[in-house]
Amino acid sequence: SSPESILKQVFGYSTFQGQQQQVITHVLAGGSCLALMPTGGGKSLCYQIPALVMDGITLVVCPLIALMQDQVASLSELGVSAVYLSSILDEQSQQEAMHKIRTQQVKLVYLTPERLVNEWFLNFIRQFKINLIAIDEAHCVSHWGHDFRPEYQKLAILAKIFPRVPRLALTATADYYTKVDILHFLELKNQPIFSTSFNRRNLFYQTTEKNNGKNQLLGFIAQHAHQSGIIYCNSRRKVDEIHEFLNCSGVIAFKYHAGLENATRIEQQNLFLQSSNRVMVATVAFGLGIDKPDVRYVYHFEMPRSIEHFYQESGRAGRDGMAAFSMVNFGFKEIYELSQMVLQSEVSELKKRYELDKLKKIIAYCDSVTCRRQQLLNSLGEDCDPCGHCDICISQEQLQDGSVLAQKILSTVYRLQQKFSLGHIIDVMKGKASSSVQIWEHHRLSTFGIASELSIKELRRTVRQLYSQNLLDIDFNNGAIKLNANSLPVLRGIKQVLLRPQRRAELALVNNVWLRTEHEERIYHNLLNWRHMMAIRHKVSHHAILSDKSLYELVNIKPENRGELKDIYGIGQVKLERFGDDLLVAIHKSANSVKAAMF
Ligand code: ADP
Ligand code: MG
Ligand code: ZN
Repeated sequence: SSPESILKQVFGYSTFQGQQQQVITHVLAGGSCLALMPTGGGKSLCYQIPALVMDGITLVVCPLIALMQDQVASLSELGVSAVYLSSILDEQSQQEAMHKIRTQQVKLVYLTPERLVNEWFLNFIRQFKINLIAIDEAHCVSHWGHDFRPEYQKLAILAKIFPRVPRLALTATADYYTKVDILHFLELKNQPIFSTSFNRRNLFYQTTEKNNGKNQLLGFIAQHAHQSGIIYCNSRRKVDEIHEFLNCSGVIAFKYHAGLENATRIEQQNLFLQSSNRVMVATVAFGLGIDKPDVRYVYHFEMPRSIEHFYQESGRAGRDGMAAFSMVNFGFKEIYELSQMVLQSEVSELKKRYELDKLKKIIAYCDSVTCRRQQLLNSLGEDCDPCGHCDICISQEQLQDGSVLAQKILSTVYRLQQKFSLGHIIDVMKGKASSSVQIWEHHRLSTFGIASELSIKELRRTVRQLYSQNLLDIDFNNGAIKLNANSLPVLRGIKQVLLRPQRRAELALVNNVWLRTEHEERIYHNLLNWRHMMAIRHKVSHHAILSDKSLYELVNIKPENRGELKDIYGIGQVKLERFGDDLLVAIHKSANSVKAAMF
């Protein structure tokens, strides 16, 4: 079969997207390459389709068991035979998987890097015809990246052991150093790189300043009830706190962080993966490579560590291409906390500077006064016009001329000889003769009380905005606020400073408003119930049965017969056979007859 017919017959999709077709053609011709595609860009298909076109076995290296389980389960719903090998498999499942490989019943074998480079295993697998080695989440090979896994570097031996087998590395991280590492460690230096734009058009980007964060979060969740979402926090302690807060407030939430028992963690993760309307509170340890296509929002309860982290984490929303939301709730406190984390980490000075630089970019994103998508993509090295699909682009809010206030702040910093931290500066500007102000005799300065009419909060957020616009510096070693080269034109009145007004109105968030009539709502609920039943019966997640996008098309198009069903997104040959009749009943009959048909 050709790649095109497999795309349609097995996966139920009508066209390739991005560079999928080019990558597939390249590996089918025996070439190795690196494929850079955004999260949700469809990287898996780049190796799954060649695996079905060619004779033999495709090996897929994955960093996480959960990811393998999920892919193998989804493939089995499509009628494709795949297995995964991992240390957590019990002896019997292990034997069954090996038996399937030996008797050539499988097209794809998923495994961890440790497992693949194990000498015994290499000798075993070499007896078979290996047609392709895919290395998913290939950025794990780089210690500059965000999910460094030392075992990935051992994959360097693959080029020697399987010199004639094409190697396909895949990742959504396009950072320069990471790319260099991938090409180096996976021996891909002279091979082509296929890359697609990192713009995630279906994501709506928004940030909000922290102002009673927990209430802001509850409000957000209420507007997104009946949807799946992930809430990221920067520490385990915070995850525990927010998880408990939500459950006490009547929101059913799961939690995930490295401090939990292994079994608990896996259980919480599976409950979330299989649901379609629950909240997961987690540290960033959760989510790498998790293919849950119907996550409708990612809410950063605290500022992410870097643009790259943010891109990955927010990218876990809307993998199915349907509308989804990215929200960051941030405050000044986190800027200090994150910079302290960097300064106290045990890495070289060079790496610290590199990390602080990255922190600066994410601060600029959070506090941006221009299109957020533009900020984000520019930091990732890509151009983009103002997008019309972020809070800044659709906001009516006018920026204010903050030049005079900026001058007051910068001249106070100057008079304090760039040695004092934010609290002290604010005391001076507000005219508060604290003991420290008196000891230093700062109540005698001409800027003492220069901004007495402003609140502490207002001054804090202004200093923060000046910092994110790179008009002043902060020495995170001691908290001292300093001037930089950009401060001078502001002080001299040559450069205008634009500031965001206080208390930006929270934007009304767009929800799932595609159910146009009561009739459609009924069909939708029929389908939801049916999907839930099927997921239980097949012991897989909701989305392995049918994705949200498939439901959306079913409700909108209301196919009349199997011929029309075949054209629905995600319905290939096997799903048509298995589910066709059920779906037609769910769409065209009343709720009661649907229940009758299901039992
Ligand atoms: P990635 O690994 O790049 O993040 P996945 O391979 O998990 O993305 O794919 C994301 C979603 O897009 C999956 O639900 C997948 O089935 C779907 N998908 C992939 N390729 C296509 C395509 N050509 N047309 C429609 N949907 C696709
Ligand atoms: Mg993937
Ligand atoms: Zn925009």
